[in-house]
Amino acid sequence: MLEQELKTLVRDVPDFPQPGIVFKDITPILQHPEICQQVVEEFAKRLANVEFDVIAGIESRGFLFGLMLANYMNKPFIPIRKQGKLPHKTVSESYKLEYGQATIEIHEDAIPSGARVLIHDDLLATGGTVVAASKLIEKVGGEVAGFCFLINLEFLQASGRLDRFSTNVISLLTYA
Ligand code: 5GP
Repeated sequence: MLEQELKTLVRDVPDFPQPGIVFKDITPILQHPEICQQVVEEFAKRLANVEFDVIAGIESRGFLFGLMLANYMNKPFIPIRKQGKLPHKTVSESYKLEYGQATIEIHEDAIPSGARVLIHDDLLATGGTVVAASKLIEKVGGEVAGFCFLINLEFLQASGRLDRFSTNVISLLTYA
């Protein structure tokens, strides 16, 4: 079963990037092309009833399956990047981290007006990143159609923070 295979591959890395944090490392999944293909197919299956026009992936691990899924579903892919990385005119959104803050950006012309956007990232933790991404999508005239993640750290209870943008929240693995 895909979920079990993925759970076996995801590696817990203690004390990364800071002492006390156990980081879920998804890179071992990428060593298995057939499982990557199954991940994309599973996302597509679960998205069958979600109507969207484009996929926005969040730097950098959100680019991995985000672009694969966009190609598989024949949808345009839009990168949301950390500050200062996108070359053309951008719109920015800052959000709080546990210590300090982060800023993410999107090209101001990336999204056709009114387009329904599926946001993808590898992992949902507190939700701060995808809430900021959702605000960016709205700032440039798009509408958030849903979210898809490889992993939801459900014990952090972030999905409630996403409700005001969309209740379509899909995750292949959850940690309760
Ligand atoms: P949030 O903003 O929801 O608190 O954190 C999610 C963001 O941080 C995502 O962009 C994700 O890539 C990254 N992140 C936080 N913790 C982890 C983790 O344990 N593993 C991975 N792969 N990414 C993480």
